[in-house]
Amino acid sequence: MSTAQPSGRPTWSNWAGNQVARPAAVVAARSTQEVRDVVRDAASAGQRVRPVGTGHSFTGLAVTDGVLLSLEHLSGVTAVDRESGRVRVLGGTPLHVLNLALDAFDLALPNLGDIDRQSISGAIATGTHGTGTRQYGIASAVTGLRLVLADGSVLQCSPDEHAEVFQAARVGLGALGVVTEVELQCVPAFRLRARERGESLSAVLERVQAEADAHDHLDLHWFPHTDRVLVKRNDRVPDDDPGRPLAAWRARLDDDLLSNRVFEAVNRVSARWPAVVPRLNQATSRALGTREYTDASWRVFCSAREVRFRESEYAVPRAAVVDVVRAVRDWVDRHDVALPFPVEVRFLGGDDVWLSTAYERDSAYVAVHQYHRMGDGGLFAAFEAIVAEHRGRPHWGKLHTLGRERLAELYPRFPDFLAVRDRLDPERLFGNDHLTRLLGP
Ligand SMILES: Cc1cc2nc3c(=O)[nH]c(=O)nc-3n(C[C@H](O)[C@H](O)[C@H](O)COP(=O)(O)OP(=O)(O)OC[C@H]3O[C@@H](n4cnc5c(N)ncnc54)[C@H](O)[C@@H]3O)c2cc1C
Repeated sequence: MSTAQPSGRPTWSNWAGNQVARPAAVVAARSTQEVRDVVRDAASAGQRVRPVGTGHSFTGLAVTDGVLLSLEHLSGVTAVDRESGRVRVLGGTPLHVLNLALDAFDLALPNLGDIDRQSISGAIATGTHGTGTRQYGIASAVTGLRLVLADGSVLQCSPDEHAEVFQAARVGLGALGVVTEVELQCVPAFRLRARERGESLSAVLERVQAEADAHDHLDLHWFPHTDRVLVKRNDRVPDDDPGRPLAAWRARLDDDLLSNRVFEAVNRVSARWPAVVPRLNQATSRALGTREYTDASWRVFCSAREVRFRESEYAVPRAAVVDVVRAVRDWVDRHDVALPFPVEVRFLGGDDVWLSTAYERDSAYVAVHQYHRMGDGGLFAAFEAIVAEHRGRPHWGKLHTLGRERLAELYPRFPDFLAVRDRLDPERLFGNDHLTRLLGP
């Protein structure tokens, strides 16, 4: 992601390639002490600092012309209490490393998103989430954080220790300090039975609220220009359930070939001949047909996503989900636009994390995507107008155009977050242009 340039300045870009930075330096710290040194050195050189995870955010959150601080070497589990399920991990630990390590202790995160490449700190900083009406975002599992603050000091926070900082820093946008260690409340390892099949979107929307409650994790992928939706129903099964994982060849065929290589080819064809997209979407939705298997939770939740795209995702009140999906569908039907990527719909219970998109609101998430080589034809702007009518809250790591004023209307604890920021980082050592738009100068 980061390469040296003849000018001496490295170039950094995010996973999707839509955010590019020319930082003064990219530094990979190996310890909390090194993070403190980087922060202090940057402050005395008058430079700003942006912590970065694995660069999977679509927004300009990590972009800086100052010091880009990577925690990729700060990875691994540092303490495990098997009785309580409390686990401490270093701030740069990727989720795939964490999932494997937890499994070895018969533990797991209660819920995960679609992929496992992100760092734990990056995932919680933007409110990364999976699906399930009785589930919460990953940040809800956080019980403690160790932060390096703008003055180079180290602060340990939890619900009992510096509670205000803890409430702000769980979904903290990297605006309050550098997270070097995270404590997580894990659950006993569990298995899920996955049932996936193509259905009619119109029929699924008629009963979607009941379906969402009937399953532990309901995930919809609607293929625009068609009435086809891939419905993923994942449910916990007892340990002695006889269900089996997918055969290795089938998993490779589905994920590697169909979801990645063939899908990349489909998208390249779509970029060249957009008129064929409706027919291709019919074919793709049928190719990703019925399958049923049982596996460790984290293997069911996460899969590889190699085809590059751009994405916008909003959380709306759960009751609004059908109106939002129908409005997006109407818009697509009325416009000359080609969308090879599915629209994803997920659910989450309301939580108490100040800047969580599900703060005190049972939520549905609707996400629109576009292949990285194709324009969105106005979809993202139209989508924002649709969700605005339902007080939609944008995923912090995905594309949106909202700024401080609107965000303050959407988040009751926004002023409290700003007050913590003012106290911890009055000089905006951790600032950048994107944060100025979101939070103000
Ligand atoms: C293919 C793909 C699939 C995705 N699937 C989902 C999904 O299913 N659900 C979902 O909710 N999101 C999803 N996302 C979004 C993704 O989870 C978030 O954008 C997440 O923040 C990425 O983590 P990262 O480690 O790459 O963080 P980065 O993008 O590198 O950084 C994100 C933010 O975290 C901050 N940060 C990083 N490390 C630290 C640290 N140590 N201390 C303080 N701040 C820090 C950065 O400053 C920045 O503000 C997906 C993204 C992609 C590209």
